[in-house]
Amino acid sequence: MEWAAYFDERTETMPPAWTRRLEEELLTDQVTRCYERSPFYRRKLAEGGVRPEHVLSAEDLRRIPFTTKEELRASQEAEPPLGDFACVDLVDVVRVHLTSGTTGKPLVLGYTPEDLRTSARIGARAFWAAGARPDDVLLHCLNYSFYTGGLADHDGLEETGATMVPVGLGQSKRLLELWQELRPTAIFSTLTYPLYLAETAQDAGVDPRGLGLRRLIVAGEPGGQLDGTRRRLEELWGAELSDTYGLSDVWATFAAECEERNGLHFSGQDAVLVELIEPESGDPVEIEPGATGELVFTHLAREASPVLRFRSRDLAEILGVECPCGRTGFRFRVAGRSDDMFRVRGVNVFPSSLEGLLRERGIDRFAIVLDRFPVEPPVEILAEGADGKEAELAEVIKAKLQFTCVVREATLPRSEGKSKRLYRVYDGEERP
Ligand SMILES: [Zn+2]
Repeated sequence: MEWAAYFDERTETMPPAWTRRLEEELLTDQVTRCYERSPFYRRKLAEGGVRPEHVLSAEDLRRIPFTTKEELRASQEAEPPLGDFACVDLVDVVRVHLTSGTTGKPLVLGYTPEDLRTSARIGARAFWAAGARPDDVLLHCLNYSFYTGGLADHDGLEETGATMVPVGLGQSKRLLELWQELRPTAIFSTLTYPLYLAETAQDAGVDPRGLGLRRLIVAGEPGGQLDGTRRRLEELWGAELSDTYGLSDVWATFAAECEERNGLHFSGQDAVLVELIEPESGDPVEIEPGATGELVFTHLAREASPVLRFRSRDLAEILGVECPCGRTGFRFRVAGRSDDMFRVRGVNVFPSSLEGLLRERGIDRFAIVLDRFPVEPPVEILAEGADGKEAELAEVIKAKLQFTCVVREATLPRSEGKSKRLYRVYDGEERP
């Protein structure tokens, strides 16, 4: 069957000047609502010497100080569960999700019915770009507990019209037993899960290529756009892979790769305003091809738990603005979380770039062990399947990523969820 090219053509192909006007209209309303209903944001605006009626454009927005996760957490600790940055009472909230960061206590973020509709709409734009269609039988294989990756992404996927199968985690064997009854065509999961599922199938003597999946939609782990990882998974399943992006503090999913797969298209035009900043100075960086910086988010249409100028700690590279697919949402790639990054003698290293290199060489499981701080070379890397090629791998890493390491063969834990790559032993973490 032939389907439309877009879920929401008008918004997704809007000329950039229109998008800007739409953003500005929504921005003034959102900032005014925050000012009127939230003591937290009244303080923020006062701190910046700004009144809501002054915030008419993205430039004006820069007068409001940034919001950090630590501030939101402190607000919730003082006034549980939603904190004084919430703009509605709990009685108007129909769902809460927890944020899924790897550090510290999660936030409890509220959704009104309208917030859930917004989340599903921008999610559906992204998932449609990633290839989900009404004639797909789509396996949702992320954790359904607490986080936006569960129900909120389920809503976005369902909004595309796909037939959803809420699988969750811990059901791989059962899923394979039921495969012929369900005849799934697509899967939504972490980047790690299709690998785990393929191995489980192979252990049962089944070739994953014969199972009929045509689309892998992945989320939650940087690396889905890396060539080595993509090729490996696409070959294993005989399917096409598209990466998506969301941040549980902002919206579940609001960017995805289209069929060109040349970066993640931003799909949250009427729901969130994006700024790019230089992480150390906080100075604005123009969103144009080649620019890199930290993503900063301001909700444009969030009733319950809005953020203004929220520092994501995600570092992005802008790949382009125009695309042969016709979408006008800018395209970007996430280089990694600044939390995951480590420095070896002035070189910034992201576990995700190491992952691409190793997967190209058939290695799916690895761990970086940092036993002292500041990190000094050689960095210890444990890799399953490195036997006999340890020195060669260390050389490739040195050549491509500019740091010295020792690679050692090791058997590492198998995981259905996100893979843990970085072990900060100096910080009290146990070695894998
Ligand atoms: Zn495109």
